[in-house]
Amino acid sequence: MYQNQQQQQGYRRGGYYNDRYDRDYQHRGGYRRHNNYNNQQHKRAKPPQSKPKVVIDMNDDQWKEKLTLPKADVRIRTTDVTDTKGADFEDWSLSRALLMGIFELGFEKPSPVQEQSIPSVLMGSSLLARAKNGTGKTGAFAIPCLEKCDEDVAHTQMLVLLPTRELALQTSHVFKQLSKYLNLEIVVSTGGTNLKDDIIRLQAIVHVIIGTPGRLQDLNKQGVLKLAECRLIVLDEADKLLTPDFLPAVENLLQATPADRQLMLFSATFPGTIAEFKETWLPGAEIINLMDSLTLQGITQHYAFVDESEKVHCLYALIRKLHINQCIIFCNSVNRVELLSRKISRLGFPCFYIHGQMGQKHRNRVFQGFRSNQCRYLVCTDIFTRGIDIKSLNVVINFDFPRSSNTYLHRIGRSGRFGNLGLSVNFITNEDRYNLCKIETELNTQVQPVPAEIDSKLYN
Ligand code: ADP
Repeated sequence: MYQNQQQQQGYRRGGYYNDRYDRDYQHRGGYRRHNNYNNQQHKRAKPPQSKPKVVIDMNDDQWKEKLTLPKADVRIRTTDVTDTKGADFEDWSLSRALLMGIFELGFEKPSPVQEQSIPSVLMGSSLLARAKNGTGKTGAFAIPCLEKCDEDVAHTQMLVLLPTRELALQTSHVFKQLSKYLNLEIVVSTGGTNLKDDIIRLQAIVHVIIGTPGRLQDLNKQGVLKLAECRLIVLDEADKLLTPDFLPAVENLLQATPADRQLMLFSATFPGTIAEFKETWLPGAEIINLMDSLTLQGITQHYAFVDESEKVHCLYALIRKLHINQCIIFCNSVNRVELLSRKISRLGFPCFYIHGQMGQKHRNRVFQGFRSNQCRYLVCTDIFTRGIDIKSLNVVINFDFPRSSNTYLHRIGRSGRFGNLGLSVNFITNEDRYNLCKIETELNTQVQPVPAEIDSKLYN
């Protein structure tokens, strides 16, 4: 009992739930789940064991009928995911086991970026692929690379680098789902977790390793990453990985891989500085660009001109009015995230919050909780702008307006995933006016004032 109380207080101090939510959550047995989690957190990684082998009956012609398919998503989809040349996943001689994973994940037809990238990667090309947020870039590299990994070869064949821990976890989850019927060992390794645990895990055979550059560089220095035979390398959210914060670690890891590597860069935005990197590491790469005119299709963008002191009041009015499935509210600083989430909760809207100064275990719990729809509102800093894929998220609110068009694009791209419709509302203060104009010009888009009524069909 005492321990229980202590833990509850600990959660409050940790501060990622707010009081009201605490009570609701407790009733639903949430703490019990968290307590279990807490009991596990001091366990060391188990000594490496191989998972039970999956055996597929290759003579079973009825295999498609036996798949466990998810419920069909009947929402309207924009042309940036439907406008394909008509390819099917079965056109590329993918293994039956991989096709089963693809269909069970709910992918029926490839999206445009998948249609272009999958055959190129299968043919061995290095790639620089640019496509809108939420149009299936993860599948575009995961599917052909998983096809190319050989479960009978006992070394690491694929390395996937991502800029944030949450994104690495999300990507490893997609890899695990796609490879459900393949006998591949996939390991995720990120900062914020125990290094020794990762070292133990990497003693086993690992076919695919997914992680953040800093942690993987540490493991490489310790000699536990075996990259000498790793020929498939992906930089997802590549523009971020090419910034000075990450580039040295990325290049260090690339140097550990063989010269005949196949290197694939995926992102929605590529900065001018990519040219130098491309010359060094990707001289003959194929370029796929699906971003010429479709950048913000499917996302209705509005702004509300407000005074700083009116923001909370406006937010309250807005969230009462909108038909929100799930919503992310962005602030520009850690302090503002904490303050705002407290205020919103007091106004009767329980919410989660997340930022980079929280411990990794808290971050993971909030991330998983929000993903599994335990809470409708998430207040956060830009930690969540990149790649995070939450299907039911239909509204993004920039409580604080971002400074750059890149950040704006990535933030609002959290809604409207895979051609679904989304809504973004931006609070603009006097100082933000110039920035709004700049972003509109740079993205060649127009953000309209919030009307008295927003048609819910535009974002549901
Ligand atoms: P991106 O990396 O371009 O931001 P993701 O790879 O995260 O996009 O995909 C966005 C969403 O679309 C995910 O929920 C994913 O499951 C879904 N998705 C991807 N490819 C397909 C497909 N071919 N058919 C249906 N859904 C897909």
